[in-house]
Amino acid sequence: MGFPIPSEKIERRHYINGVFSESSDNGTFEVKSPYSHEKIVDMCEASVEDTNRAVAAAKAAFPSWSNTDPETRGSHLKKLAELIKQSSTELMQLDAMAMGRPVSQYFDAMYTASQFEHYAMMGYEAQGTTSLNTPGFMNMTLRQPIGPVAAIIPWNIPTMMFGMKMAPALAAGCTVVLKSSEKAPLTPAKLAVLAHEAGFPPGVVNVLGGHGTPSGATLSSHMDIRLINFTGSTLTGRKIQAAAASSNLKKVVLELGGKSPALIFEDANIEKAAGETAFSLQILMGQACIANSRIYVQETVADEFKTAFKANFKAAKKGDPLMPETQQGPQADEIQYERIKAYLEAAKEGKGKLELGGEVTQVDGKGYFIEPTVYADVPEDEKTQKEEVFGPFVNINTFKTEAEAIEKANDTEYGLYASVYTNDLSRAMRVAKAFESGVVGVNCTSPTNAKDMPFGGYKGSGQGREGFGYSLDEYFEIKSVLIRIDNAPQPIEAKVPVS
Ligand code: NAD
Repeated sequence: MGFPIPSEKIERRHYINGVFSESSDNGTFEVKSPYSHEKIVDMCEASVEDTNRAVAAAKAAFPSWSNTDPETRGSHLKKLAELIKQSSTELMQLDAMAMGRPVSQYFDAMYTASQFEHYAMMGYEAQGTTSLNTPGFMNMTLRQPIGPVAAIIPWNIPTMMFGMKMAPALAAGCTVVLKSSEKAPLTPAKLAVLAHEAGFPPGVVNVLGGHGTPSGATLSSHMDIRLINFTGSTLTGRKIQAAAASSNLKKVVLELGGKSPALIFEDANIEKAAGETAFSLQILMGQACIANSRIYVQETVADEFKTAFKANFKAAKKGDPLMPETQQGPQADEIQYERIKAYLEAAKEGKGKLELGGEVTQVDGKGYFIEPTVYADVPEDEKTQKEEVFGPFVNINTFKTEAEAIEKANDTEYGLYASVYTNDLSRAMRVAKAFESGVVGVNCTSPTNAKDMPFGGYKGSGQGREGFGYSLDEYFEIKSVLIRIDNAPQPIEAKVPVS
């Protein structure tokens, strides 16, 4: 078997209360290579009992962890960052094995380590404010960790997702139960091993493998979980929101899907815009929430743009994701591959004009590969123009005016990422303001993401923010403490109950 990490070296168990354990019912699920289709390992499938045990551990560890001084908490985060850096090659290989992520595109381990380093310094942000604005009172506003939290992550960037969810929660003083995706459980399980080595007290970090049902659904409706931070599809996000609402009304942070537009104006650097938007769909084989999957180009430069775009898009070398020369790996698994195939069929039946690809393919008779595909002039109400394809697939349409371009860009249920390419500064600012989108790129596009900026979506792309900076706020409750400092009788207005 050609895997660089043999199955017996892969951690396949849950990490609960500081101990690695099999599932209570011995349940497992198979993880297969999307390139060779060979079995990699049988991972443990979390049962309801395992999930409840992990939540109980997080609940029991919360009082002590939330009262641990931020510097001590931070020292564990720093240690974990160090261990992640040391294990970056192994993490890279595990993601390549499980979900076809080419090793040539792998920056996730270093990014994840920097998340833990960043949040290691942030624990003191829990401080609140004091006010002397009310005569006779000195009032305080406290920020306190919200409680045990759950994180449910997708398969496309599992290492980064682990850091995005864990680092701010742990720095804020929360304890965490994270459920990885059934498609990419190998790196989260390895990160649990590293968290154990970093010396977090038992119950502070808990990591489960398994499917949405039963484990994810159990977390979403659990009465002891105070916040759930979910990244995944909008469909699942709705289910989690509903489960939270019908259980304990836990706070919900949702990072969901996208159908991110790029507007290319005639005064832009067309070569640069074509290269960057093509790369946005090449990274992760189009399985990125921020991929520019709807491109609108001004009519006057449409031919020039499309020619340059297609040249870039088809240039990626397909192959074994573990080989350094490979730029396009297979799609993550058979389910994703079949899903994209259905979109290719829908596109064929639609009114758009096929410009590139349109078919599935294989390398040396192997792998769930899709040819980079471009359709042009696709009606706005067609399925592939409305829905997230999550593959190397793009529709390129044209526009005449700025107003028309903005209207088309915003005509979507999503609002995660949007790009504009233009050399007119005023236009760039107007368009950035007009986009209904949580993140905007001006003369740049995904995966560019500044380290000190929040990340999240408008509309059906989610609620709340994460990434560097703002996400710490999600993990605090705000408490107002009113302190009487004079001995005067309570003023009448302060006695009136607020209903
Ligand atoms: P998914 O919704 O199928 O699964 C995500 C996670 O939810 C998995 O761990 C899965 O096991 C779990 N799950 C499934 N059903 C559940 C249920 N009923 N209750 C609780 N948990 C459940 O999504 P996916 O296919 O893993 O990921 C792809 C999606 O993620 C795309 O839509 C993509 O745009 C989105 N995504 C968004 C961001 C972002 O930051 N906005 C980042 C990466 C991926």
